[in-house]
Amino acid sequence: MQTKRWCLQVHRSEGEKTRKRLLEEGLLDRLCRIRPEGDFLFIPVVRNIEGAVCHECTCAPEKKELPRFEQVGGIAIMQEDDLSGAAAILASKKTYHTVLFAESAVEGPFRTKKFKVLTGRDTTATEYIEYGHHFSIDLAHAYFSARLSGERQRILSLMQKGERVTDMFAGVGPFAITLAEKASVVYAGDINPEAVILMVRNITRNHLTNVVPSLSDAINLPDIIPHPADRVIMNLPLHSLPFLEAAFRMVRPGGIIHLYALVSHEDEYVDTLRAFRVEKVESRYVRSYSPDRFHVVYDIVRG
Ligand code: SAM
Repeated sequence: MQTKRWCLQVHRSEGEKTRKRLLEEGLLDRLCRIRPEGDFLFIPVVRNIEGAVCHECTCAPEKKELPRFEQVGGIAIMQEDDLSGAAAILASKKTYHTVLFAESAVEGPFRTKKFKVLTGRDTTATEYIEYGHHFSIDLAHAYFSARLSGERQRILSLMQKGERVTDMFAGVGPFAITLAEKASVVYAGDINPEAVILMVRNITRNHLTNVVPSLSDAINLPDIIPHPADRVIMNLPLHSLPFLEAAFRMVRPGGIIHLYALVSHEDEYVDTLRAFRVEKVESRYVRSYSPDRFHVVYDIVRG
C-alpha cells in the first residue's frame, strides 16, 4: 500500500547505521519498506522525530490488534461488552461461530457463568477437541474450561495402566474422558443434570465403555462406588473442603487425591490437611485468577 509516512532522509552510506540505531530506539517503522531514491534512502519512522520528512512509502496494511478473549471450540469469550471487537474476532477465523460476553463470574452450585451473545450464531453450545477427545459443551448450562487441558495431561502422565479413578465434580467429563485412556474404570459424578447429559454424550462420542457417569452429590459417592480408588479428582476449587472426608474414604492407602483450590499462598490448605491421613502433599501452581489469588493443585498421597 502506497502512503505518506514520516521518514529520515540519509545518504546510502549512512543507511545501515541509521536503520540499526532507529531499530534499537524503537523508532523504525517496521510495517514500511526503506525507499531508495538516487544516493539517498528514506527510512520510515514511527513518528515525527527531529529531521523527519513526510515521504511516499510502501507499507503493509496495519493489523488491528484483537481485543482479549478466551477460545473454547468455535466460541470466543470476551471480558468486555464490545460489539466492534466481537465483530473483528468473528471475522478473524473461519472456525469461530459465536462471540460471547461473560456477564458474570462463575456462580451458583453448578459453577456456570451468564453470557450475552455479542455476534454470530445465537448459542452458548459448541464442539471442542482436546488431545483427540471430542466434547459437546454448553457454557451457559454446564461448567467447562479449556485452561485445564495441561493439568489433565499431567495427571494422565502420572497414571499407571489399569487404575481406578473417581472424578467427584466431573462436569461434562473432560478429566474423566481423558483419564479413561489409562484407567480400568472412571466413576464420574456431578450434581448438575445438564452437565451429566453432556457427559453421557461425550462418553458415547469418544466410544468409551469404562466411564460410569452419575447424577450424584459428591458427598454420597463413598456409599455408591463399590471399591476403593487409586486416584480421586476434586475440581471444585472454592468449595471442595466439605468433601475432603468423602475423598479420603474413597481413596486407598497410597492412592492419590488431586485437590484443586483457589488460594492466596501455596501452603494455604496444608494445616487443614493435617486432620487427615496424609503421607505426602505436594502443591503446584496451576494458573492465576486475580492479582492476589491463584489456582493451585495439591497432590495428596493418602497414608
Ligand atoms: N471437572 C469439570 C471440569 O474440569 O470441567 C467440572 C469442574 S466445575 C469447577 C465443578 C463441577 O462440580 C460443576 O460441574 C458442578 O455442577 C459440580 N458440583 C458442584 N457441587 C457438587 C456436588 N456437591 N456434587 C457433585 N458435583 C458438584
